[in-house]
Amino acid sequence: MNTVSDYFGSLVFDDRVMKANLSADVYKSLKKTIDEGARLDDKVADAVATAMKDWAISKGATHFTHWFQPLTGITAEKHDSFITPAPDGRVIMEFSGKELIKGEPDASSFPSGGLRATFEARGYTAWDPTSYAFIKGKSLCIPTAFCSYGGEALDKKTPLLRSMEALNKQAMRILRLFGNTGVKCVRTSVGPEQEYFLVEKEMFDQRKDLIFTGRTLFGAKPPKGQEMDDHYFGVIKPRVAAYMAELNEELWKLGILAKTEHNEVAPAQHELAPIYGTTNIATDHNQLTMEIMQKVARKHGLVCLLHEKPFAGVNGSGKHNNWSIATDTGVNLLTPGETPYENAQFLLFLCAVIKAVDDYQDLLRLSVATAGNDHRLGANEAPPAVVSIFLGDELNAVLDAIENDAPYSGAEKTVMKLGVHVLPRFTRDTTDRNRTSPFAFTGNKFEFRMLGSSNSIACANIMLNAAVAESLKIYADRLEKADDFESALHDMIKKTIKDHKRIIFNGNGYDDSWIKEATEKRGLLNLRTTPDALPEILNPKNVKMLTSHKVFSEAEIRSRYEITLENYCKSVNIEGLTMVDMAKKEILPAIETYASELATSYGVKKAAVPELGGKYEKKLVAKLSALIDQIDEAAEALEKALVKLQTVEDITEESVMIRDEILPLMAALRLPCDEAETMTSEKYWPFPTYEDLLFGVR
Ligand code: ADP
Ligand code: MG
Repeated sequence: MNTVSDYFGSLVFDDRVMKANLSADVYKSLKKTIDEGARLDDKVADAVATAMKDWAISKGATHFTHWFQPLTGITAEKHDSFITPAPDGRVIMEFSGKELIKGEPDASSFPSGGLRATFEARGYTAWDPTSYAFIKGKSLCIPTAFCSYGGEALDKKTPLLRSMEALNKQAMRILRLFGNTGVKCVRTSVGPEQEYFLVEKEMFDQRKDLIFTGRTLFGAKPPKGQEMDDHYFGVIKPRVAAYMAELNEELWKLGILAKTEHNEVAPAQHELAPIYGTTNIATDHNQLTMEIMQKVARKHGLVCLLHEKPFAGVNGSGKHNNWSIATDTGVNLLTPGETPYENAQFLLFLCAVIKAVDDYQDLLRLSVATAGNDHRLGANEAPPAVVSIFLGDELNAVLDAIENDAPYSGAEKTVMKLGVHVLPRFTRDTTDRNRTSPFAFTGNKFEFRMLGSSNSIACANIMLNAAVAESLKIYADRLEKADDFESALHDMIKKTIKDHKRIIFNGNGYDDSWIKEATEKRGLLNLRTTPDALPEILNPKNVKMLTSHKVFSEAEIRSRYEITLENYCKSVNIEGLTMVDMAKKEILPAIETYASELATSYGVKKAAVPELGGKYEKKLVAKLSALIDQIDEAAEALEKALVKLQTVEDITEESVMIRDEILPLMAALRLPCDEAETMTSEKYWPFPTYEDLLFGVR
């Protein structure tokens, strides 16, 4: 086990292992289930389970677990051992097909948003055979979906798989119209680029805010921040390099294609990108990646922060969701082709995305809405909360030419007629990469950049797949009925460009003037915060679209609305309580001790040499005392408001109160605390500062 290719995937029950450990018949049936979703017969399931168990035991596993993604956003697992008592008092190791296919975790504490009455505690997990089982620690992990007994999804995987199916169905209709009969299915692929911070564990442990909320709630700006841009792509420090090396190894063993790693813009910030894969597998892998990032960090005396905004005044962390659609025959439908027909097909898929993003801006925005991500979107470091698409000059010129029946210079000054003319090859322009766009076309894929670093990528991809499925459905409905396919196609593409060009913006998304133009001139949505964005999921047009493609039922939509909003409220509530606690028990006593030391020293000096003055001490004591009073008042106001928050019953109302009252009160408490930090002796400050945290890992 020394070269990467020796151990890559060594902890995964992948195709290679299946082939080697299953009889030819069983392997064939299982493949059919994986590729075509065919039902697995009980005997086959038993054979697969036994092979999985034997393989897992040979790798040191003693337990199995159905691994799933409840709506808490993290993954859940409940471990059962393989042991079964034998009559002679010993144990044998058993694992049946039934146990593989279905599990019944006592899941009453997972959020269900009212879908599962508490007396009906059981939900069940169902094996997702398209995502390989793997070993983590001493457990065989079986990727599963998690549903209520009524069949409603209680997780993120189920609707994700449904959304992929919806897109597959509509995309296949379009491909058939283009005479493409060889393709069996269409899948979306994702490569998520993951940002994170590393801090010293010893420092982390001294900060309640990091421990309880994952972000700093206090902290004055250090003398040096990210202004020198000397961290981005900079030389990786030895400790961080050692961390990355072990992280890669762990990920590779799990068959995760960790590919790129580099330092990010902020000090102590880094990024990891995998090679892209099928969306549901990429989602599983991203969840695992986040988990392993944190686990490996601990081994190196570090803590990996996945929060969207661990430090004020320093860039936060996002996750870029690179997304494309491809056929099972390996054709990327977002790449211009060699023939006029392929080009027309490319343009149609491109238009489907443009229309989807414009029609469902709200769904895309709310799919990334969390308390943490609210600190990023619109803060001049991440894309704004306004959704728009970047296409680049070349593609833009093509669309312009089509819209206006004007000659396109790239195609020998002829008027573009789809289905007749070959589009120029789009070269991926590396010099003109727009990094401020929320949704950028990057040559053969779209990069959705609004996701927060801790977000599961499931939500964004559910909405994206569903919205694009809807565009394709509208196109297919029309084209299937058209007498003249080519002109119907041409008209439809033209109409899409006309109707939806408002969503296309190739300028600087960080510019304030863009927000003005977007909202005032173009009528685009600016859903700034989570409480602004989430209610849009209940908008009848969204409910209609999502239910018509069977991505969600109405009850599931409502439950998701409530759970997501509840997560938002709970997170901010914990932040508020932590602030009050830190202010009262740590910050105030520290400033007080320092101020009284100064006062004592003033008194001593005055007594010794009355004419000396003690101007410095006097001034500082006065300032610190004033700040102490301000902090005390602000902490009390916040505490009071948090008590009042508990009396609000309606979750929507609660979220609005958080947005309008709690968050401003938190900011008001932070301000005097941060100011006091700049005047208090380092010796007295009760926890590590920004300087310590950001520059501490050496
Ligand atoms: P960048 O310039 O943004 O760094 P890269 O080409 O390095 O772009 O890709 C970034 C991410 O996009 C990687 O995870 C990569 O695997 C993924 N990616 C590349 N091509 C595709 C594609 N066709 N579909 C989905 N993801 C892709
Ligand atoms: Mg990128």
